[in-house]
Amino acid sequence: MKNVAANSKLIKKLNRMNVLNILKRHGSVSRQELAAITGLTGPAITGIVKELLTIGFVKETGLGVSQGGRKPMQLEINPEAGYVFGVEVTRHEVSMGMANLTADPVLLQRRAVDMSAPKPGIDNFVRVIGSAARMADRKGQLLALGVAFPGLIDVATGTVKRSVNLGPEWSGYPIRAALEERLGVKVFIENNSNASALAERWFGDCADCRDLVYINWGEGISAGVLTDERILQGYRGYAGEIGHIVIQEGGPLCNCGNRGCLETICGIPALERKVASELPFIRADDPIRERAAAGLVSIEDVIDCAGAEGSYCAELMRQVARYVGYAVADVVNILNPQVVFLGGRMARAATLNRALIEETVRSHAFPEVAAATELMISSLDGRAGFSGACALALRETMESSHSDLLKGGEEHQVLLSRRTI
Ligand SMILES: [Zn+2]
Repeated sequence: MKNVAANSKLIKKLNRMNVLNILKRHGSVSRQELAAITGLTGPAITGIVKELLTIGFVKETGLGVSQGGRKPMQLEINPEAGYVFGVEVTRHEVSMGMANLTADPVLLQRRAVDMSAPKPGIDNFVRVIGSAARMADRKGQLLALGVAFPGLIDVATGTVKRSVNLGPEWSGYPIRAALEERLGVKVFIENNSNASALAERWFGDCADCRDLVYINWGEGISAGVLTDERILQGYRGYAGEIGHIVIQEGGPLCNCGNRGCLETICGIPALERKVASELPFIRADDPIRERAAAGLVSIEDVIDCAGAEGSYCAELMRQVARYVGYAVADVVNILNPQVVFLGGRMARAATLNRALIEETVRSHAFPEVAAATELMISSLDGRAGFSGACALALRETMESSHSDLLKGGEEHQVLLSRRTI
């Protein structure tokens, strides 16, 4: 019985989000139209709309055109109902954005800070967020703060299990509790790839898909998976670690302890190391040699030079595109998503060799499954992280109980007061 009750609660939450999504996309819709689009019954829609009107997320805007009977009351999202903050954390940087119920996130601040350990990382985080929050143009109440964090997160307890990118001192750190205490605001935290998948669903090119995979291709490689609208967490919340698919038996040592993982061949640090070690053997007239003469070679230099046909970098980027294609084929075979997005700092490299990645996926995935999946390059660029954190905060807020939402208010004052400095 417990499961039945939990399921109907979840269905109610998903239906509420579905209604808000439709209102977001269509602008102005009547209850009858909502019933027709969602396939839900009239009384179910009436109940959901009543809740959304009570918490102020939706407003009635006047009578629409009659379809034969009474003129229907039109509904719209109330953009001034509230807003959320979304923060992306990387080892050397914190980026904070803001979004309301209708508009896409805007970047408020991107600041270089040391996040390599909880101390002084949390102090730095709180300082950046506090000053950006006070400068933001806000309307309505602050609903929540979302955080996109690089590493394995226990979402249920808001604890960092392990963050290879940030540092070992984060292991076991209760980040959600620490931030809620310091900021006085409801905090939601997710792994950055999961958050990016949410960003594609809410703000990207995939407004209609409920099954998608976002592959974050950067320093590490991991996937955020939405299946039927829900983030795939796995048994312990670690689903999506595709960077550790073994591509080359006995290959380079990975920081996970294995050898030949995808990350050790296609991750940014691995690529930069490879180029640096092979530089002396590259032809003197190759464009990368010219870049190297001007200083250290970065992955951006490598991608720039990959545009030159026949160059060292063109061949290197083709090789890694093939490897990433194998991983995407695995993902497609296992999950059968509607869309696979390639994003992260290496998205430009994926654009360059998109046809090759597609061809590799087609020839290595089960034909019917591959044919049903679209490969897209994320258009969110550097915005995926903080946009995903905003999407997480919005989504969790919409899933919150009635009473939680009505409470709102005064607890958020801490974040907006001087006390956070
Ligand atoms: Zn590994």
